[in-house]
Amino acid sequence: MSKSLQAIRGMNDILPEQTPLWRYFEGTVARLLDNYGYRQIRMPIVEFTELFKRSIGEVTDIVEKEMYTFDDRNGDSLTLRPEGTAACVRAVLEHGITGGGQVQKLWYIGPMFRHERPQKGRYRQFHQIGLEVFNLAGPDIDAELIVMTWRLWGELGLRDAVKLELNSLGTSESRGRYREALVEFLSAHVDKLDEDSQRRLKTNPLRVLDTKHPETQAILVDAPKMADYLDDESRAHFEGLKARLDAVGIPYVINPKLVRGLDYYSKTVFEWVTDKLGAQGTVCAGGRYDGLVEQMGGKPTPGVGFAMGIERLVLMLEALDKVPEELARQVDVYLCAFGEAAELAALALSERVRDQLPNLRLQINAGAGSFKSQFKKADKSGALYALILGDDELAQQVVGFKPLRGQGEQQSIAWDALAAHLATCVVQG
Ligand code: ATP
Ligand code: MG
Repeated sequence: MSKSLQAIRGMNDILPEQTPLWRYFEGTVARLLDNYGYRQIRMPIVEFTELFKRSIGEVTDIVEKEMYTFDDRNGDSLTLRPEGTAACVRAVLEHGITGGGQVQKLWYIGPMFRHERPQKGRYRQFHQIGLEVFNLAGPDIDAELIVMTWRLWGELGLRDAVKLELNSLGTSESRGRYREALVEFLSAHVDKLDEDSQRRLKTNPLRVLDTKHPETQAILVDAPKMADYLDDESRAHFEGLKARLDAVGIPYVINPKLVRGLDYYSKTVFEWVTDKLGAQGTVCAGGRYDGLVEQMGGKPTPGVGFAMGIERLVLMLEALDKVPEELARQVDVYLCAFGEAAELAALALSERVRDQLPNLRLQINAGAGSFKSQFKKADKSGALYALILGDDELAQQVVGFKPLRGQGEQQSIAWDALAAHLATCVVQG
């Protein structure tokens, strides 16, 4: 196929075989967030480029090299959103829903776009579920975010496969003091740093901590530690968070090198990581960003949030064999009709049944092939039962009711009794 008729590299179709698992995952998260009192917000996929530069920061990987940016027909520079926080902050400011100190607990879901090198768990269009909380400054809400994800891992059967890493970046003042100390230390070793780190040392020195380069990592062993520079308030905040995680029994490790890629974080940062996905190990990441709203033109407004990568979590569910069995079966009952008159009757009958059993997954296959081929399709659909309606059944106003999974003999059921009968043998989700 010519290249222009193929999907863009790193942007994937999610095929019908995969969508049940996606919907299971998304549905599980949505229900959980509803239960904790979070409300969904939907933002556009495109924003002014300036929004991301201002919020994410000019010297971050995302803004430096990952954004899909283009000119609108009227000359405005627009960008496909690489993440959700910037647009969410823009939206709450634009609608004035945090300006009076109102608490907002919001979540969103949707595609994000980053021009990265595509590989397993890393794509150019990928999907996140994220949330943001505004106007709650305490560690209790940082803890709530983590507790919710912990519950989610429990529901999905992933608790043993993920690990929580935590750090505190302090306030911007204490981080500034730390940055100075780190720059001083690294400058003394500048010749031994890898090229990326030498560049970051000038533009965004905290990111050097993030390096994957072994030699630079070795130098960092003796580098000053953020923990020694934390202000009292941040220290108390971090202790408050840890006490709450201990109270719930959520294990964590402190990772002093965890700085996150974006500029806007302060105090708490965290990542849920796994070793089940190779190099793409972070499945959920977030932190506090108390300065961001003000930086974007609003009143000082504490904020905290996270985002999880749906592709990586779906991959994990598959890799760990945590795909619920019932997802394999998308059909409960398969109705086969033979002959024109029977087809009409089958359609009317199936609609009557749906009236009474709105959650029944009933597939109708009228007019398509022989008895044998219809039966094959019924079987392949995964349905528990086949219903058969031919001329004989039509004359008697019955259907043949045939268990497909070895649950007994075929029987004849009157049309009037069909819904009631199905209600007893199909467990409806
Ligand atoms: P990484 O270090 O893996 O590049 P990140 O720090 O850039 O991640 P965030 O911006 O924090 O990622 O996004 C939150 C989550 O979104 C990540 O933890 C990951 O699960 C997912 N994610 C980020 N980038 C991608 C991508 N290109 N493809 C698939 N998932 C992604
Ligand atoms: Mg990244």
